[in-house]
Amino acid sequence: MQYLSGTVETAITELSKLPGIGRKTAQRLVFYMMKIPRREVDDLAAALVALKDKVRTCSQCFNLTDSDPCLICANAGRERSLLCVVEEANDVLALEKTGEFRGLYHVLGGVLSPLDGIGPDDLRIRDLMLRLQGGVSEVILATNPNTEGEATAIYLSNLIKPLGIKITRIARGLPVGGDLEFTDEVTLSRALSGRVAW
Ligand code: ZN
Repeated sequence: MQYLSGTVETAITELSKLPGIGRKTAQRLVFYMMKIPRREVDDLAAALVALKDKVRTCSQCFNLTDSDPCLICANAGRERSLLCVVEEANDVLALEKTGEFRGLYHVLGGVLSPLDGIGPDDLRIRDLMLRLQGGVSEVILATNPNTEGEATAIYLSNLIKPLGIKITRIARGLPVGGDLEFTDEVTLSRALSGRVAW
């Protein structure tokens, strides 16, 4: 039985495909959008389309950016000998919010996960090893403190150790099984400053 307009139904279906958005929330969003001015809906639609048109990955750190290199890599004030390895671009966002870290990042693009068929070649590990040839003195392994994140950190640590580069791991204060993205800034900031040698 179809009570709704097909157009409304389509919008609800599309929105409920988004992570964390159930059908109920999608419905609420659609009805909200019917009430706001046309211009605001245009702005939202344009912002979403621009994500696909304008955003790319930085050729150096693989962070998401409008310009290449990204603003962090292009910033002459950043410590270039300090490299923080994270899983995804949203981890960069979380760590930048702490204001604690003054080095550069390397976004792996995921974690090792044999069960999902994700091996070293599926991540930007080769690019990481190339970057380590150029004056990096410390690598901070900031993968998530869960099973895959930990396994990835161990794998990287074994690769990097022979290079004689200092390896540290953010740890203290982070809940085991947690997610960097959802960790509050104070905890994340402490985890970063209290990083331990590996
Ligand atoms: Zn970059």
